[in-house]
Amino acid sequence: MAFDPVQSLSRVQHEFGEHGGVNMSIEASTTYTVMDAGIMPEIFGGRMGPETGGCYLYGRHFNPTVYVLGRYLAAIEGTEAGYATSSGISAIACTLMQLCAPGDEIVASNAIYGGTFALLKEYLPAKTGITVRFVDISDLDAVRKAISGRTRVVYTESISNPTMVVADLPKLADIAHDAGAQLVVDNTFSPMLLSPAQHGADIVVHSLTKFIGGCSDIIAGAVCASKDFISQLMDLHMGSIMLLGPTMDPRVAFDLSLRLPHLGLRMREHSRRAQFFAEKLEGLGIGVSYPGLRSHPQHGLLESLVNPGFGYGGLFAIDLGTKERAFDFMNYLQQQEGFGFLAVSLGYFDTLMSCSASSTSSELSDEELAEAGIRPGLVRVSLGYTGTLEDRWAQFERALNSVGY
Ligand SMILES: *Cc1c(COP(=O)(O)O)cnc(C)c1O
Repeated sequence: MAFDPVQSLSRVQHEFGEHGGVNMSIEASTTYTVMDAGIMPEIFGGRMGPETGGCYLYGRHFNPTVYVLGRYLAAIEGTEAGYATSSGISAIACTLMQLCAPGDEIVASNAIYGGTFALLKEYLPAKTGITVRFVDISDLDAVRKAISGRTRVVYTESISNPTMVVADLPKLADIAHDAGAQLVVDNTFSPMLLSPAQHGADIVVHSLTKFIGGCSDIIAGAVCASKDFISQLMDLHMGSIMLLGPTMDPRVAFDLSLRLPHLGLRMREHSRRAQFFAEKLEGLGIGVSYPGLRSHPQHGLLESLVNPGFGYGGLFAIDLGTKERAFDFMNYLQQQEGFGFLAVSLGYFDTLMSCSASSTSSELSDEELAEAGIRPGLVRVSLGYTGTLEDRWAQFERALNSVGY
């Protein structure tokens, strides 16, 4: 039977507040009382935690409110456990540093979020001696060839940023597992509609800053994985979340927890509108990349992977040929039509647009941009759901007309 993230979430989202409130309480304490002095050494020895008869220890270690959010996110992804962090990039960095030691290798997709690209290409090799080989993730032979005896991780985004390449998760999982490596998937672009752990991913990371937060007001991240891996991240001696300290504030965790019940509804509407726009754009003969289109190279693959009913996501990319034309188009839409914001990021309730090559992917060199298929006139659109669909499309069409379409 198909995995249903909404049903899975509903099974765990039933946390009473302290006084019987329908919402959970916020545990805003950074330290916790033990009722017997003898318990303290047990906790510090890692022998007793919140789930093994012990109690909570300190706010940078597990916090009950953040822990609940982690459980909800794990339910959405269908993993055993999950925990939230203060940013998406910290969830990614902590995961990779937990899995790799100096000399180990990561095989990574060459079309990923610019910050992750910089982390993998520059920061990790320089600071940790972990090295990274970048490949076209849709070329499975290239992935196989890039793997060596030191490969610990195959890293990809479920749907890539900004080129909309869909990763063949079942095959990548097989390739990784055959080599004794783990498949780590960034699912920021496709919460609800795609559940990478159901297709072989060992660890799913998220930037909650995007669709899950949904309001462009909170920076946050999460790791969804096995109980064992989440405990490793929080280990008092060797845990990268515990020791590097990207702690989520419990107030933020509470706030985010209230946005999960309507995440499915929001994703459905983002997708419905993006599908409509992509089909219209294709009809006009404009180069559009959207995995919901039959013409998209991995449409069939994505169709075989998605959880039914959520569509194919809220992002599409259009190629307007040159940077100048892309800029003129975005200026017109924002200034003349008052539709959308010329801003990086995505997953907002309103529309956000940016020219990837000169913004969110500017960490890549010209050559790397070409290899990843990020052309200078490529505009990434994260389509919001404000206004009526027909009116929004009319605005978009006028902006296209203004640059000669
Ligand atoms: C934004 C983003 C990140 C980084 O997340 P932050 O919350 O900004 O740290 C990682 N991966 C993808 C795909 C993103 O879009």
